Amino acid sequence: MKQAFLKFGKDDSLRRYHPWIFSGAIHHFSEQPEEGEVVEVYAAKQKEDRKGFDFEYIASGHFQIGSIMVRVLTFEHEDINQEFYEHRLASALQMRKAVGLVGKEDSTSYRLVHGEGDNLPGLVIDVYKQTAVMQAHSVGMHVDRFVIAKALKNVMGDDLENIFYKSETTLPFKAELGQENGFLLGGSTDDIATENGLKFHVDWLRGQKTGFFVDQRENRSLLQKYSQGRKVLNMFCYTGGFSFYAMRGGAQLVHSVDSSQKAIDLTNANVELNFPDDARHTAYAEDAFKFLDRMEKGAYDLIILDPPAFAKHKDALRNALKGYSRLNQKAFEKIAKGGILFTFSCSQVVTKDNFRTAVFTAAAQAHRKVRILHQLHQPADHPINIYHPEGEYLKGLVLYVE
Ligand code: SAH
Repeated sequence: MKQAFLKFGKDDSLRRYHPWIFSGAIHHFSEQPEEGEVVEVYAAKQKEDRKGFDFEYIASGHFQIGSIMVRVLTFEHEDINQEFYEHRLASALQMRKAVGLVGKEDSTSYRLVHGEGDNLPGLVIDVYKQTAVMQAHSVGMHVDRFVIAKALKNVMGDDLENIFYKSETTLPFKAELGQENGFLLGGSTDDIATENGLKFHVDWLRGQKTGFFVDQRENRSLLQKYSQGRKVLNMFCYTGGFSFYAMRGGAQLVHSVDSSQKAIDLTNANVELNFPDDARHTAYAEDAFKFLDRMEKGAYDLIILDPPAFAKHKDALRNALKGYSRLNQKAFEKIAKGGILFTFSCSQVVTKDNFRTAVFTAAAQAHRKVRILHQLHQPADHPINIYHPEGEYLKGLVLYVE
Protein backbone atom coordinates (compact mmCIF):
# COMPACT_ATOMS: atom_id res chain seq x y z
CA MET A 1 0.00 0.00 0.00
CA LYS A 2 1.25 3.49 -0.78
CA GLN A 3 2.12 5.69 2.13
CA ALA A 4 1.63 9.39 2.87
CA PHE A 5 4.09 11.01 5.27
CA LEU A 6 2.91 14.07 7.15
CA LYS A 7 4.98 17.13 7.87
CA PHE A 8 6.18 17.34 11.47
CA GLY A 9 3.47 18.86 13.70
CA LYS A 10 0.68 18.38 11.15
CA ASP A 11 -0.96 15.48 12.98
CA ASP A 12 -2.83 17.47 15.66
CA SER A 13 -6.26 17.34 14.03
CA LEU A 14 -5.83 13.63 13.30
CA ARG A 15 -5.04 13.02 16.97
CA ARG A 16 -8.47 14.54 17.60
CA TYR A 17 -9.94 12.15 15.01
CA HIS A 18 -10.78 14.80 12.46
CA PRO A 19 -11.23 12.85 9.21
CA TRP A 20 -9.72 15.28 6.67
CA ILE A 21 -6.06 15.67 5.73
CA PHE A 22 -5.32 18.80 3.74
CA SER A 23 -2.72 18.85 0.99
CA GLY A 24 -0.53 21.27 2.97
CA ALA A 25 -0.08 18.72 5.75
CA ILE A 26 1.52 16.10 3.52
CA HIS A 27 5.30 16.05 3.20
CA HIS A 28 5.60 13.31 0.58
CA PHE A 29 4.24 9.99 -0.66
CA SER A 30 6.21 6.75 -0.88
CA GLU A 31 4.95 6.67 -4.46
CA GLN A 32 2.34 8.88 -6.16
CA PRO A 33 -1.09 7.31 -5.49
CA GLU A 34 -3.89 7.09 -8.04
CA GLU A 35 -7.01 9.11 -7.31
CA GLY A 36 -9.35 7.07 -5.15
CA GLU A 37 -6.64 4.72 -3.88
CA VAL A 38 -6.41 3.91 -0.17
CA VAL A 39 -3.21 5.24 1.39
CA GLU A 40 -1.69 4.71 4.82
CA VAL A 41 -0.82 7.91 6.60
CA TYR A 42 2.21 8.28 8.86
CA ALA A 43 2.91 11.06 11.36
CA ALA A 44 6.42 12.39 11.90
CA LYS A 45 7.91 12.01 15.38
CA GLN A 46 11.14 13.65 16.30
CA LYS A 47 13.85 11.17 17.29
CA GLU A 48 15.06 11.36 20.88
CA ASP A 49 18.42 12.74 19.79
CA ARG A 50 16.44 15.29 17.74
CA LYS A 51 18.35 14.24 14.65
CA GLY A 52 15.67 13.35 12.12
CA PHE A 53 12.25 11.74 12.40
CA ASP A 54 10.60 8.44 12.99
CA PHE A 55 7.24 7.80 11.37
CA GLU A 56 4.28 6.15 13.02
CA TYR A 57 1.01 4.96 11.51
CA ILE A 58 -1.91 7.25 12.27
CA ALA A 59 -4.72 6.59 9.74
CA SER A 60 -5.77 5.19 6.37
CA GLY A 61 -8.01 6.87 3.87
CA HIS A 62 -8.95 7.65 0.28
CA PHE A 63 -6.51 9.79 -1.65
CA GLN A 64 -7.84 12.49 -3.93
CA ILE A 65 -6.34 15.46 -5.74
CA GLY A 66 -7.61 18.67 -4.17
CA SER A 67 -7.39 20.62 -0.96
CA ILE A 68 -8.72 17.71 1.11
CA MET A 69 -6.19 15.15 -0.02
CA VAL A 70 -7.04 12.22 2.22
CA ARG A 71 -10.45 11.36 3.66
CA VAL A 72 -9.81 9.14 6.65
CA LEU A 73 -11.67 5.84 6.79
CA THR A 74 -9.96 4.38 9.84
CA PHE A 75 -7.55 5.27 12.61
CA GLU A 76 -6.84 1.60 13.21
CA HIS A 77 -4.33 -0.29 11.15
CA GLU A 78 -6.81 -2.37 9.13
CA ASP A 79 -7.53 -3.25 5.51
CA ILE A 80 -10.22 -1.37 3.63
CA ASN A 81 -12.13 -4.22 2.04
CA GLN A 82 -15.66 -5.63 1.90
CA GLU A 83 -15.48 -6.72 5.53
CA PHE A 84 -14.50 -3.20 6.58
CA TYR A 85 -17.50 -1.73 4.74
CA GLU A 86 -19.78 -4.39 6.22
CA HIS A 87 -18.74 -3.35 9.72
CA ARG A 88 -19.27 0.32 9.03
CA LEU A 89 -22.64 -0.25 7.31
CA ALA A 90 -23.83 -2.58 10.07
CA SER A 91 -22.95 0.08 12.62
CA ALA A 92 -24.86 2.70 10.63
CA LEU A 93 -27.89 0.41 10.40
CA GLN A 94 -27.69 -0.38 14.11
CA MET A 95 -27.84 3.32 14.92
CA ARG A 96 -30.93 3.85 12.70
CA LYS A 97 -32.57 0.88 14.42
CA ALA A 98 -31.73 2.35 17.82
CA VAL A 99 -33.60 5.54 16.96
CA GLY A 100 -36.58 3.64 15.57
CA LEU A 101 -36.26 4.47 11.89
CA VAL A 102 -35.99 0.96 10.44
CA GLY A 103 -38.75 -1.52 9.57
CA LYS A 104 -41.64 0.91 9.87
CA GLU A 105 -44.69 0.55 7.65
CA ASP A 106 -45.65 4.21 7.61
CA SER A 107 -42.10 5.61 7.21
CA THR A 108 -40.03 3.65 4.73
CA SER A 109 -37.42 6.30 3.98
CA TYR A 110 -34.32 7.17 5.94
CA ARG A 111 -30.66 8.01 5.48
CA LEU A 112 -28.52 4.98 6.19
CA VAL A 113 -25.12 6.58 5.64
CA HIS A 114 -24.31 10.23 6.16
CA GLY A 115 -20.66 10.58 5.15
CA GLU A 116 -18.34 11.62 7.97
CA GLY A 117 -21.26 11.28 10.40
CA ASP A 118 -21.05 7.53 9.87
CA ASN A 119 -17.26 7.38 9.54
CA LEU A 120 -17.58 6.90 5.80
CA PRO A 121 -16.49 10.25 4.34
CA GLY A 122 -17.61 10.69 0.76
CA LEU A 123 -20.52 8.25 0.92
CA VAL A 124 -24.25 8.89 1.19
CA ILE A 125 -26.91 6.18 1.14
CA ASP A 126 -30.63 6.87 1.39
CA VAL A 127 -33.11 4.03 1.74
CA TYR A 128 -36.56 4.16 0.15
CA LYS A 129 -38.48 1.03 1.07
CA GLN A 130 -36.44 -1.81 -0.51
CA THR A 131 -34.26 0.47 -2.63
CA ALA A 132 -30.99 2.05 -1.56
CA VAL A 133 -29.79 5.08 -3.48
CA MET A 134 -26.04 5.35 -3.13
CA GLN A 135 -24.06 8.47 -3.88
CA ALA A 136 -20.29 8.95 -4.00
CA HIS A 137 -18.91 12.37 -3.16
CA SER A 138 -15.30 11.23 -3.36
CA VAL A 139 -13.32 9.37 -5.98
CA GLY A 140 -12.44 6.69 -3.41
CA MET A 141 -16.08 5.82 -2.77
CA HIS A 142 -16.64 5.75 -6.53
CA VAL A 143 -13.75 3.33 -6.99
CA ASP A 144 -15.10 1.15 -4.15
CA ARG A 145 -18.75 1.25 -5.31
CA PHE A 146 -19.07 -2.43 -6.22
CA VAL A 147 -17.49 -3.62 -2.96
CA ILE A 148 -19.77 -1.29 -1.01
CA ALA A 149 -22.81 -2.56 -2.91
CA LYS A 150 -21.94 -6.16 -2.00
CA ALA A 151 -21.36 -5.22 1.62
CA LEU A 152 -24.65 -3.33 1.69
CA LYS A 153 -26.59 -6.30 0.34
CA ASN A 154 -25.00 -8.57 2.96
CA VAL A 155 -25.87 -6.20 5.77
CA MET A 156 -29.43 -5.48 4.67
CA GLY A 157 -30.30 -9.01 3.46
CA ASP A 158 -33.81 -9.50 2.11
CA ASP A 159 -34.84 -5.99 3.12
CA LEU A 160 -32.93 -4.71 0.12
CA GLU A 161 -33.84 -5.45 -3.49
CA ASN A 162 -32.34 -2.58 -5.46
CA ILE A 163 -29.21 -0.50 -5.24
CA PHE A 164 -29.19 2.51 -7.51
CA TYR A 165 -25.87 4.30 -7.87
CA LYS A 166 -26.34 7.99 -8.52
CA SER A 167 -23.17 10.01 -8.73
CA GLU A 168 -24.06 12.06 -11.72
CA THR A 169 -23.56 15.42 -10.06
CA THR A 170 -21.53 14.68 -6.97
CA LEU A 171 -18.15 13.52 -8.19
CA PRO A 172 -15.33 16.03 -8.31
CA PHE A 173 -14.48 17.52 -11.63
CA LYS A 174 -10.83 16.63 -11.41
CA ALA A 175 -11.67 12.97 -11.23
CA GLU A 176 -12.71 13.14 -14.89
CA LEU A 177 -14.93 10.17 -14.33
CA GLY A 178 -17.87 11.59 -16.15
CA GLN A 179 -21.32 10.86 -14.92
CA GLU A 180 -22.50 7.55 -13.71
CA ASN A 181 -25.99 6.51 -12.79
CA GLY A 182 -27.23 2.96 -12.78
CA PHE A 183 -28.41 -0.07 -10.86
CA LEU A 184 -25.80 -2.10 -9.01
CA LEU A 185 -28.50 -4.51 -7.84
CA GLY A 186 -32.05 -5.21 -9.00
CA GLY A 187 -33.69 -2.75 -11.33
CA SER A 188 -37.15 -2.10 -9.99
CA THR A 189 -38.58 1.36 -10.36
CA ASP A 190 -41.42 0.88 -7.90
CA ASP A 191 -40.91 4.34 -6.62
CA ILE A 192 -43.49 5.04 -3.95
CA ALA A 193 -42.12 5.46 -0.44
CA THR A 194 -43.70 6.79 2.73
CA GLU A 195 -42.85 9.31 5.40
CA ASN A 196 -44.94 9.51 8.54
CA GLY A 197 -47.84 7.90 6.68
CA LEU A 198 -47.69 10.23 3.68
CA LYS A 199 -46.80 8.83 0.29
CA PHE A 200 -44.39 10.24 -2.24
CA HIS A 201 -42.77 9.26 -5.54
CA VAL A 202 -39.00 9.11 -5.51
CA ASP A 203 -37.42 9.82 -8.83
CA TRP A 204 -34.04 8.30 -8.12
CA LEU A 205 -33.34 8.09 -11.83
CA ARG A 206 -33.62 11.79 -12.52
CA GLY A 207 -34.40 13.63 -9.27
CA GLN A 208 -32.12 15.95 -7.31
CA LYS A 209 -29.82 14.43 -4.70
CA THR A 210 -31.07 10.89 -4.10
CA GLY A 211 -34.60 11.79 -5.23
CA PHE A 212 -36.16 13.18 -2.06
CA PHE A 213 -34.99 15.31 0.86
CA VAL A 214 -35.32 12.97 3.82
CA ASP A 215 -33.60 15.46 6.11
CA GLN A 216 -36.73 17.59 6.58
CA ARG A 217 -38.89 14.72 7.94
CA GLU A 218 -39.17 16.01 11.50
CA ASN A 219 -39.43 19.64 10.52
CA ARG A 220 -42.31 18.79 8.20
CA SER A 221 -44.08 17.06 11.09
CA LEU A 222 -43.70 20.19 13.18
CA LEU A 223 -45.11 22.28 10.35
CA GLN A 224 -48.17 20.06 10.22
CA LYS A 225 -48.96 21.00 13.83
CA TYR A 226 -49.08 24.69 12.92
CA SER A 227 -51.06 24.38 9.69
CA GLN A 228 -54.65 24.25 10.90
CA GLY A 229 -56.69 26.91 9.11
CA ARG A 230 -53.59 28.66 7.73
CA LYS A 231 -52.76 29.94 4.27
CA VAL A 232 -49.50 28.29 3.46
CA LEU A 233 -46.75 29.23 1.03
CA ASN A 234 -44.18 26.48 0.47
CA MET A 235 -41.31 28.26 -1.23
CA PHE A 236 -38.58 26.09 -2.87
CA CYS A 237 -40.97 23.15 -2.61
CA TYR A 238 -39.01 20.63 -4.73
CA THR A 239 -41.15 17.44 -4.37
CA GLY A 240 -43.69 19.22 -2.18
CA GLY A 241 -42.78 17.59 1.14
CA PHE A 242 -43.91 20.47 3.33
CA SER A 243 -47.05 20.99 1.24
CA PHE A 244 -48.68 17.63 1.84
CA TYR A 245 -47.95 17.82 5.56
CA ALA A 246 -49.60 21.25 5.65
CA MET A 247 -52.64 19.78 3.92
CA ARG A 248 -52.86 16.94 6.40
CA GLY A 249 -52.59 19.54 9.16
CA GLY A 250 -55.77 21.22 7.94
CA ALA A 251 -54.39 24.19 6.02
CA GLN A 252 -56.97 26.40 4.33
CA LEU A 253 -54.87 26.65 1.17
CA VAL A 254 -51.38 25.60 0.14
CA HIS A 255 -49.33 27.19 -2.62
CA SER A 256 -46.10 25.48 -3.67
CA VAL A 257 -43.43 27.36 -5.60
CA ASP A 258 -40.26 26.17 -7.31
CA SER A 259 -38.35 27.53 -10.28
CA SER A 260 -38.08 24.05 -11.77
CA GLN A 261 -41.06 22.81 -13.77
CA LYS A 262 -39.98 19.24 -13.04
CA ALA A 263 -40.17 19.92 -9.31
CA ILE A 264 -43.65 21.36 -9.75
CA ASP A 265 -44.74 18.25 -11.68
CA LEU A 266 -43.39 16.08 -8.86
CA THR A 267 -45.17 18.20 -6.26
CA ASN A 268 -48.46 17.92 -8.10
CA ALA A 269 -48.02 14.15 -8.43
CA ASN A 270 -47.27 13.80 -4.71
CA VAL A 271 -50.20 15.95 -3.65
CA GLU A 272 -52.43 13.91 -5.94
CA LEU A 273 -51.13 10.70 -4.37
CA ASN A 274 -52.19 11.83 -0.90
CA PHE A 275 -55.08 14.23 -1.52
CA PRO A 276 -56.62 13.47 -4.91
CA ASP A 277 -58.67 16.31 -6.38
CA ASP A 278 -58.08 18.53 -3.37
CA ALA A 279 -58.70 22.09 -4.54
CA ARG A 280 -56.71 23.62 -1.67
CA HIS A 281 -53.39 23.10 -3.47
CA THR A 282 -51.87 25.04 -6.37
CA ALA A 283 -48.29 24.86 -7.60
CA TYR A 284 -46.36 27.56 -9.47
CA ALA A 285 -43.18 27.20 -11.52
CA GLU A 286 -41.63 30.57 -10.77
CA ASP A 287 -38.54 32.21 -9.37
CA ALA A 288 -38.81 32.70 -5.59
CA PHE A 289 -37.75 36.33 -5.57
CA LYS A 290 -40.17 37.23 -8.36
CA PHE A 291 -43.01 35.43 -6.65
CA LEU A 292 -42.31 37.16 -3.33
CA ASP A 293 -42.12 40.54 -5.06
CA ARG A 294 -45.45 40.21 -6.79
CA MET A 295 -47.43 38.54 -3.99
CA GLU A 296 -49.84 40.58 -1.92
CA LYS A 297 -49.02 41.59 1.63
CA GLY A 298 -50.82 39.35 4.11
CA ALA A 299 -51.68 36.68 1.51
CA TYR A 300 -50.05 33.95 3.61
CA ASP A 301 -49.74 33.36 7.33
CA LEU A 302 -47.46 30.34 7.19
CA ILE A 303 -44.41 30.54 4.94
CA ILE A 304 -41.67 27.98 4.39
CA LEU A 305 -38.34 29.10 2.93
CA ASP A 306 -36.10 26.12 2.20
CA PRO A 307 -33.72 27.34 -0.50
CA PRO A 308 -30.84 25.37 -2.03
CA ALA A 309 -27.40 25.94 -0.47
CA PHE A 310 -26.48 29.55 -1.27
CA ALA A 311 -22.81 28.88 -0.44
CA LYS A 312 -21.00 25.72 -1.38
CA HIS A 313 -17.56 27.12 -0.48
CA LYS A 314 -16.16 29.45 2.16
CA ASP A 315 -15.39 32.16 -0.42
CA ALA A 316 -19.08 32.44 -1.20
CA LEU A 317 -20.10 32.99 2.43
CA ARG A 318 -20.57 36.78 2.37
CA ASN A 319 -22.77 36.71 -0.70
CA ALA A 320 -24.70 33.77 0.66
CA LEU A 321 -25.50 35.63 3.88
CA LYS A 322 -26.69 38.61 1.85
CA GLY A 323 -28.87 36.20 -0.14
CA TYR A 324 -30.44 34.76 3.02
CA SER A 325 -31.08 38.28 4.36
CA ARG A 326 -32.68 39.45 1.13
CA LEU A 327 -34.90 36.39 0.85
CA ASN A 328 -36.04 36.48 4.46
CA GLN A 329 -36.63 40.22 4.37
CA LYS A 330 -39.10 39.75 1.52
CA ALA A 331 -40.95 37.12 3.52
CA PHE A 332 -41.00 39.31 6.67
CA GLU A 333 -42.37 42.21 4.64
CA LYS A 334 -45.22 40.17 3.21
CA ILE A 335 -46.24 37.63 5.85
CA ALA A 336 -49.60 38.28 7.55
CA LYS A 337 -49.81 39.54 11.13
CA GLY A 338 -49.51 36.62 13.52
CA GLY A 339 -47.81 34.64 10.78
CA ILE A 340 -45.33 31.83 11.23
CA LEU A 341 -42.15 31.54 9.20
CA PHE A 342 -40.17 28.32 8.82
CA THR A 343 -36.82 29.42 7.42
CA PHE A 344 -33.84 27.17 6.62
CA SER A 345 -30.27 27.08 5.43
CA CYS A 346 -28.65 23.89 4.23
CA SER A 347 -25.26 25.45 3.42
CA GLN A 348 -22.56 23.66 5.35
CA VAL A 349 -20.29 26.72 5.48
CA VAL A 350 -23.04 28.92 6.99
CA THR A 351 -22.96 28.43 10.77
CA LYS A 352 -25.97 28.58 13.06
CA ASP A 353 -24.83 32.02 14.24
CA ASN A 354 -24.24 33.29 10.70
CA PHE A 355 -27.71 32.22 9.70
CA ARG A 356 -29.33 33.74 12.76
CA THR A 357 -27.61 37.04 12.12
CA ALA A 358 -28.79 37.03 8.50
CA VAL A 359 -32.38 36.36 9.56
CA PHE A 360 -32.26 38.93 12.40
CA THR A 361 -30.97 41.54 9.97
CA ALA A 362 -33.85 40.74 7.64
CA ALA A 363 -36.42 41.04 10.45
CA ALA A 364 -35.03 44.40 11.54
CA GLN A 365 -35.00 45.74 8.00
CA ALA A 366 -38.63 44.74 7.57
CA HIS A 367 -39.44 46.40 10.95
CA ARG A 368 -41.30 43.37 12.30
CA LYS A 369 -41.55 42.09 15.87
CA VAL A 370 -40.28 38.54 15.73
CA ARG A 371 -40.03 35.76 18.31
CA ILE A 372 -38.13 32.49 17.92
CA LEU A 373 -40.41 29.52 18.58
CA HIS A 374 -38.08 26.69 17.56
CA GLN A 375 -34.53 26.16 16.43
CA LEU A 376 -34.41 23.28 14.01
CA HIS A 377 -31.66 21.05 12.74
CA GLN A 378 -30.99 17.84 10.87
CA PRO A 379 -32.56 14.61 12.16
CA ALA A 380 -30.84 11.65 13.83
CA ASP A 381 -30.27 9.76 10.58
CA HIS A 382 -28.00 12.64 9.52
CA PRO A 383 -25.71 12.35 12.54
CA ILE A 384 -22.77 14.64 13.17
CA ASN A 385 -19.45 13.00 13.91
CA ILE A 386 -18.43 14.73 17.13
CA TYR A 387 -14.89 15.18 15.77
CA HIS A 388 -16.19 16.74 12.55
CA PRO A 389 -18.38 19.72 13.45
CA GLU A 390 -18.52 20.68 9.75
CA GLY A 391 -21.11 17.92 9.41
CA GLU A 392 -23.75 20.16 10.96
CA TYR A 393 -25.37 21.62 7.87
CA LEU A 394 -29.13 22.00 8.25
CA LYS A 395 -30.31 24.93 10.34
CA GLY A 396 -33.80 26.26 10.71
CA LEU A 397 -35.75 28.81 12.70
CA VAL A 398 -39.47 28.85 13.33
CA LEU A 399 -40.51 32.44 13.92
CA TYR A 400 -43.70 34.10 15.08
CA VAL A 401 -44.15 37.39 13.28
CA GLU A 402 -46.38 39.86 15.08
N1 SAH B 1 -38.10 22.06 0.53
C1 SAH B 1 -37.74 20.94 -0.30
C2 SAH B 1 -36.29 20.95 -0.70
C3 SAH B 1 -35.84 22.21 -1.40
S1 SAH B 1 -34.45 22.01 -2.41
C4 SAH B 1 -38.14 19.64 0.37
O1 SAH B 1 -38.67 19.65 1.50
O2 SAH B 1 -37.94 18.59 -0.22
C5 SAH B 1 -34.34 23.56 -3.18
C6 SAH B 1 -35.29 23.77 -4.34
O3 SAH B 1 -35.19 25.15 -4.70
C7 SAH B 1 -35.00 22.97 -5.61
O4 SAH B 1 -36.12 22.20 -5.94
C8 SAH B 1 -34.74 24.05 -6.68
O5 SAH B 1 -35.32 23.72 -7.94
C9 SAH B 1 -35.41 25.26 -6.09
N2 SAH B 1 -34.89 26.57 -6.52
C10 SAH B 1 -33.59 26.93 -6.72
N3 SAH B 1 -33.50 28.24 -7.02
C11 SAH B 1 -34.77 28.74 -7.00
C12 SAH B 1 -35.33 30.03 -7.20
N4 SAH B 1 -34.56 31.09 -7.49
N5 SAH B 1 -36.65 30.18 -7.08
C13 SAH B 1 -37.44 29.12 -6.79
N6 SAH B 1 -36.97 27.88 -6.58
C14 SAH B 1 -35.65 27.68 -6.68
